[in-house]
Amino acid sequence: MRDSIQQGLSGVLLDWYNRHAREMPWRVGPADRAAGVMPDPYRVWLSEVMLQQTTVAAVRDYFTRFTARWPTVQALAAAPDDQVMGEWAGLGYYARARNLLKCARAVTDEHGGTFPNTYDALLKLPGIGPYTAAAISAIAFDRPETVLDGNVERVMARLYDIQDPLPGSKPLLKDKAAALTPVTRPGDYAQAVMDLGATICTPKSPACGICPVRDPCQARAAGTQPDLPRKAPKKPKPTRYGHVYIAQSDSGALLLERRPDKGLLGGMLGWPGSDWSDAPNASPPFEADWQMLAGEVRHTFTHFHLILRIWTASLPAESVPEGLIVLEKHAFRPGDLPTVMRKAHDLWRDR
Ligand code: SF4
Repeated sequence: MRDSIQQGLSGVLLDWYNRHAREMPWRVGPADRAAGVMPDPYRVWLSEVMLQQTTVAAVRDYFTRFTARWPTVQALAAAPDDQVMGEWAGLGYYARARNLLKCARAVTDEHGGTFPNTYDALLKLPGIGPYTAAAISAIAFDRPETVLDGNVERVMARLYDIQDPLPGSKPLLKDKAAALTPVTRPGDYAQAVMDLGATICTPKSPACGICPVRDPCQARAAGTQPDLPRKAPKKPKPTRYGHVYIAQSDSGALLLERRPDKGLLGGMLGWPGSDWSDAPNASPPFEADWQMLAGEVRHTFTHFHLILRIWTASLPAESVPEGLIVLEKHAFRPGDLPTVMRKAHDLWRDR
C-alpha cells in the first residue's frame, strides 16, 4: 500500500520541476522534453562523470570546453590521451578522466558509437558505477531507475525523518527513493529530486516554507530537518609527506614526468618526486646542488592530507634521466598540471 508521502508526491515534484528546473548546459529542460526532445546520452554521460565528487558550478566550464572540442563520443574516443588529461586538469579524481577515455573507446568500438540504454549494459562500461548507470538510464533514456546522489539521500532522509546515520542508511534511503520513482517522466523526476535537494532542501538551511513537499515531510513536522541526514563519525585523515623536484634549464625548459596510469593522479603530468608517506626518502631525479625552497605545499586528497617540500636545481642538457620529459617554456602550461602539482609550480614561481 502506498504511504502518505508516496501519494501524489511525484506529480507535485514534477509540477514544481516544470516551473523551477535549473538550466544546465547538458540538460534538456522540461518544456523541450514535453515537446519530444531527448537528451544526448553522450552529454548526459559526460556531465555525470564530471559531476562525481564535483559541484555543478565547477563542472560547467569544463563541460562546455570538452563538448566544443569533442562534440561526440567518437571524437572523444579518437582524442590523444594527453590532450584529454590536459583538459581535465583541475577537476581532480583523475581516474575519472582515464576511465572517460576507456569508456568513450568502448562505446565507439563495441557499441558502434551508441550508448547502450539499459542499467545493466551501462554498468559494464569502464568508469560507470551503479549511480552513474542509473542516472544515465533515467535521464538520457527516461527509464524508471532509482538515482541516489547526496541530494536525493538528504531529501529522502528528511521526507521520512530517518534517524539512522549514513552510510549504513543507504539501502533504506534507496528503498524509499525507489518507491517514489514514477513510471511517467522518470528522467524528469530524477532531476526534480536532485534540484529540490540542491536548491530548496539544502544541507544547512532548508527552505521548508517554499518547499513543494512540505506538507507530507516528516522531518519538517518533527523539526529534525537541520540534523538530517545523520552521518557516522569519520575517521581523521592521516597526513603524508613528500618531495618534488623542479629543474629548469637556462632556456626555461622544465623537467616533468608522466605519472603511471595506475594510482593517484595516474596519467597526469607532474614533477618528479618521492613517494608520499610518513617519512619519504629524498629521491632527486639527477645529481645536482638541489636547494629546498622555503614554504610547503598543502593539499588534501580524499583519504589523506599531503605536505610537499619543493627542491629546485638548474637542468643541464646532459642531465635528463630516462623516462622523464623536458618541456620547453612555450610548450609548458601550468593549467595542464593537476592541482597539487600546480600548487608546487606556483610556490616555485613565486619564490
Ligand atoms: S519540507 Fe523542508 S526538510 Fe522537508 S523536503 Fe522540503 S525542504 Fe526538505
